[in-house]
Amino acid sequence: MPSHVEESWLDERDKEALQHIQHITSNAGEIQRQILSEILSTNANVEYLQQHGLHASTGSSTFKKLIPLVSYEQLKPYITRIAEGDDSPILCSNPITAFFLSSGTSGGEPKLVPIYEKEFERRLSFFNYLMARTKELFPNINWHKGKAMNFHFAKPDHKTKAGILVHTVFSRLLKRSLNLKSVESGNNAIPDDILRCTNTYQSLYCQLLCGLYQNDLVFQVGAVLASGLIHVFKFLENHWVDLVSDIRRGSINNPKITDLSLRESVMKILVKPNPQLADLIETECSKGKWKGIVPKLWPNTKYIKAIATGSLSQYIPLLNYYTNNLPIFSDHYGSTECFLGLNLDPICDPNETSYTLIPTMAYFEFLPIDTTNINGEVTQELVDLVDVKLGQEYELVITTFAGLYRCSLGDIVRVTGFTNKAPKFSFVRRKNVVLNLEYEKTNETDLRMGVENAGGVLKPFGATIVDYTSYADTSTIPGHYVLYWELLIDGNDHNTQTNHFIPSSVFNDCCFAIEESFTTFYRIKRSHEKTINPLEIRIVKSGTFEKLMKLAINGGASMNQYKTPRSLNSNQIHFIQLLESNVVCSYFSQKNPRVGLH
Ligand code: AMP
Repeated sequence: MPSHVEESWLDERDKEALQHIQHITSNAGEIQRQILSEILSTNANVEYLQQHGLHASTGSSTFKKLIPLVSYEQLKPYITRIAEGDDSPILCSNPITAFFLSSGTSGGEPKLVPIYEKEFERRLSFFNYLMARTKELFPNINWHKGKAMNFHFAKPDHKTKAGILVHTVFSRLLKRSLNLKSVESGNNAIPDDILRCTNTYQSLYCQLLCGLYQNDLVFQVGAVLASGLIHVFKFLENHWVDLVSDIRRGSINNPKITDLSLRESVMKILVKPNPQLADLIETECSKGKWKGIVPKLWPNTKYIKAIATGSLSQYIPLLNYYTNNLPIFSDHYGSTECFLGLNLDPICDPNETSYTLIPTMAYFEFLPIDTTNINGEVTQELVDLVDVKLGQEYELVITTFAGLYRCSLGDIVRVTGFTNKAPKFSFVRRKNVVLNLEYEKTNETDLRMGVENAGGVLKPFGATIVDYTSYADTSTIPGHYVLYWELLIDGNDHNTQTNHFIPSSVFNDCCFAIEESFTTFYRIKRSHEKTINPLEIRIVKSGTFEKLMKLAINGGASMNQYKTPRSLNSNQIHFIQLLESNVVCSYFSQKNPRVGLH
């Protein structure tokens, strides 16, 4: 990690954090051994470990022999007991003071993850590292005068039956205003109390108002996930008239902003009318052309900060559209269960982003994917962080201080290199198969590659796939795959009943391109055995995926963490119904995909 940063941008805490990164990545093996031994000695008395025959003097080899690899579901009965008020040491010897709530949109139901104060402090160090490294990576930014504009979507807290606090990781981080500056890259253009507001409309309106008002100070535009940032840009498209009027008058005239404390916070920023700025925003927004709107409204933006890897890479074309290809910095890889990795590399193509797993966050193990040993048997041996092999794919397994032992996160990652002795990983996909009719087991990557290839077919016609999801439709015999697509065609949302812009044959070709990207199993079943019917693309009205997100948010998901589900099943009938009621036209594959392609 070369350091070219202006000395003056780094404060003492940054310098210490950078040294710490060097230390923990250079001694990754030793640190991991210490972390495991600390977890085991701290939690030696807990019921779960004792049930599996562990005791105070247990070493790591016994741990590996006795403790099974599990999923969250297998630990859930223990977690439920804690949530219901059993305060005996069930999973963790420290009293559990809160639960973090996962989005439930990466697969399955929202999860409750136990947490206690000291464990939360551990997570804060992750953001200290990120802040320091970001300053190093972007030395040409004036970190004292400039402002980041990071959008957040806070969710209200609630309590378990036994009165234990339940909230999302980011809601918790936002409450710790003292530490918030370590969460963000420098000063945020949006004050903390606005970020903490849990009314989605009022919060986002006021966040944008503050960000627009300070437009020439903003050097970075960001949200946790790329999908969240797209939501912000869509919000701007729909609400710029009110925002312009408020900036012109230097006061909030939008009657929907009813929260007085929120108004007060905005008025500390919106100190006087700015008709010139209002004119600029009005001129740009009234054109109705949103391509490149970010650099037009925030002309000093150097980069976009939002996670755009894995299934979120779907949003890269759209981010490029709004930002005129500003660099995208996918800064971290994390989960509600545990913070995982940081992007410590200079900015690169988002598809090449890697994350260095931070060895102090948890004890990490790795289950090799599809490896066979010399006898030709599939090996199920978990390997340690420093023993992973370059280029190999693994399922990530964590053991945490707060009581998750050898718990698979359901993520598949690939080793792409090393930061000192700590491996770097690219995010590959969620483990679960997303579509399955005849044991062909199409996974998230297969689907993403298919959609990317079909996106290539559409590109010459000026069309971008805004978002997509899918399901395996068994109401036809044989069954077939249905993909729901929302499109943006040369800046016009695809809203019409019939498609005037692009010939049907192009969409038929898109269906075919997707099918040709799928596995041999799929193609044999489709073309030879004819046990799968032709794939179908159903185009939905513009704004449908926003509605889908709102439905998920109303059901408990947090917008900061919301990820469009890439496949739906029959339990998600309300999602399917919403999509169906917005379908404008549909197309089928007209040709049999070829077998023996890959
Ligand atoms: P949640 O616990 O709801 O925040 O979801 C965590 C999950 O989001 C992870 O297990 C990953 O599947 C996904 N995720 C988090 N960070 C990234 C990233 N940088 N790239 C791709 N997927 C990610």
